[in-house]
Amino acid sequence: YDLRNEDLKELRELGQGNGGSVKLVEHTPTGTIMAKKIVLIDAKPAVRKQILRELHIMHDCHCPYIVSFYGAFLSDPNICICMEAMDKGSLDGIYKKIGPIDIEVVSKVALAVLEGLTYLYDVHRIIHRDIKPSNILFNSEGQIKICDFGVSGELINSIADTFVGTSTYMSPERIQGAQYTVKSDVWSLGISLIELALGRFPFSDSSSDDSDLSDLEGTLSPARPGSIALPPSRSLEERKREKDKRNKRKSKGHIVNEPAPRLTPEGRFPKMAEEFVDSCLLKDPDARQTPKQLLKHPWIDHARKSDFNLAEWASTF
Ligand code: ATP
Ligand code: MG
Repeated sequence: YDLRNEDLKELRELGQGNGGSVKLVEHTPTGTIMAKKIVLIDAKPAVRKQILRELHIMHDCHCPYIVSFYGAFLSDPNICICMEAMDKGSLDGIYKKIGPIDIEVVSKVALAVLEGLTYLYDVHRIIHRDIKPSNILFNSEGQIKICDFGVSGELINSIADTFVGTSTYMSPERIQGAQYTVKSDVWSLGISLIELALGRFPFSDSSSDDSDLSDLEGTLSPARPGSIALPPSRSLEERKREKDKRNKRKSKGHIVNEPAPRLTPEGRFPKMAEEFVDSCLLKDPDARQTPKQLLKHPWIDHARKSDFNLAEWASTF
């Protein structure tokens, strides 16, 4: 595909993230339906071109557990990334709609994410860096695929400051400034699996409680270097988001200092699932296994053999 903005007809919005928005579009010359991610980046033209070059690797990523890439192009202050549209959306949207996800489905999610991570690392030496339910997509064929991995170092640099919200899936070693490894993605997977199985984020339980927005009074500055203080007329929605970010920043200390979360209550989930999540959430990265090693875990083996029908499950919501 030779992608140009003029050839992409917007059908509807699929979602919004910290860095921009994602739209369902039709590539009119071919009739192909795609998801177009619009990322607003603060970078010089040379850096933008570098980002485009780096994104090119995605053309070579062919794996059933990774969202296909159609191409990327520059569009004034934005970079547009066009990928396969997944009609059931991301797993965070799914559990927010239907509640906690059946543990059999969660085991299939674990399998798909581990397969995707192993492919990215073994074939392309890519570490995902942003595993979380909103980056795990699902379609009505019952396929589970990961998206938004860190192929472009320059893109990561250019949007890093706006991506505060992501930090809560970060491993203890990353929070303490250590190098990113494939094992950091395993930690993020563990947190994500608990979130899906419980139907809520396992750390800050206050971030969803917006009853005490009064404490936001006068907090105009996000207190981040280089950020612009927002005018006092910000909407409640924006204020909630700011508060959410601060809660998440607060929870960083917890991740390092408190015991890792677990699949609780004891006995509600299969022992193998509890055990798998525990091994993802070992705080010491040396003790934690790689995605490839975890593919041999009994729970993953169980997921592979399970005849649970994901397409049928998809048709229930
Ligand atoms: P963050 O910005 O913190 O990383 P995010 O992952 O939710 O959060 P985006 O990557 O911009 O932000 O995605 C926004 C939403 O768009 C996602 O939550 C997901 O529901 C939807 N989405 C993204 N890519 C696709 C896709 N290929 N097909 C269908 N829906 C998608
Ligand atoms: Mg995303």
